[in-house]
Amino acid sequence: MPLSSVRSAVEQLLLPAECLICHGLLNPRDAARIVCPLCRQRWRAVRPPWCRRCGQPEPHFGPCRLCPEWPAPLTSVRSAVWLDDGARQAVHGLKYGGLPRIADDLAAAMGPIRPETDGPSVLIPIPLAPKRLRERGYNQSEMLARALARQWRIPVALDVLVRARETPTQTALTPETRLANVRAAFAVANVQCPMINDHWTLIIVDDVFTTGATLAEASRALEQAGVKRIAGVTFARAAIPDFT
Ligand SMILES: [Zn+2]
Ligand SMILES: [Zn+2]
Repeated sequence: MPLSSVRSAVEQLLLPAECLICHGLLNPRDAARIVCPLCRQRWRAVRPPWCRRCGQPEPHFGPCRLCPEWPAPLTSVRSAVWLDDGARQAVHGLKYGGLPRIADDLAAAMGPIRPETDGPSVLIPIPLAPKRLRERGYNQSEMLARALARQWRIPVALDVLVRARETPTQTALTPETRLANVRAAFAVANVQCPMINDHWTLIIVDDVFTTGATLAEASRALEQAGVKRIAGVTFARAAIPDFT
């Protein structure tokens, strides 16, 4: 039994069946859930009109400010919900609460943003720096990708994209410094990977989208390795404070 399954089974035994967000008791049929149906309904979906490429709600005039510099293969990025208080608690649970099982609830909310692809597709989680992986014990993007893989019935590839270097946490950075912070942060470990060809679409998975810097930089590494089709999906999208 993989360690993550053992951990999940132990959690189910130890945790009271209450919602992570509102602490209401979970219905017996939702006992495997972490977030109750009501709190999941309260997550606010990101809706069109949006930039067709980056999924950012359209500015009132002029071209999109977020995605013009993105690598060409990255043609579609979508986020399921806005990062308001409820969604933030869920992301926090996934990231710091030691509750990787919440990934199933987040993945369920991402159903409507599944990218449409002509050919086969594979999920690529944003890799965590080794130091943070040791501290946390798991990669939250990998948990999310695995949950999506179960729901969308497509594979996850963990041996394609890797961290090339450690990066300081993005949380307190402005849009410009975020980009510099993740520059050359990623590399492709397995350039012989059979999914790197003209037919496969690589779907990058991350928990939160803020400026897209992480997805763009990961795409840059994939593009250099020869990947032609890239999409990105995230559970939540943060409003950028100075982006009006
Ligand atoms: Zn709840
Ligand atoms: Zn855009």
